[in-house]
Amino acid sequence: MKIYHCKNCHFTFCREGKVDSCPDCGKPDIRPATEQEIQEFKNYINDGWDKK
Ligand SMILES: [Zn+2]
Repeated sequence: MKIYHCKNCHFTFCREGKVDSCPDCGKPDIRPATEQEIQEFKNYINDGWDKK
């Protein structure tokens, strides 16, 4: 599972495999999330992330 960040709407999300566009705004302006964004994302979805 990789975490991505949308440069257009600043939406952070995780997906398996390739991602071509943002699930929120539909734009292709996505990039891999930075360490900080990943941390914030983990905090956001806290429930279940660390249970593996
Ligand atoms: Zn977006």
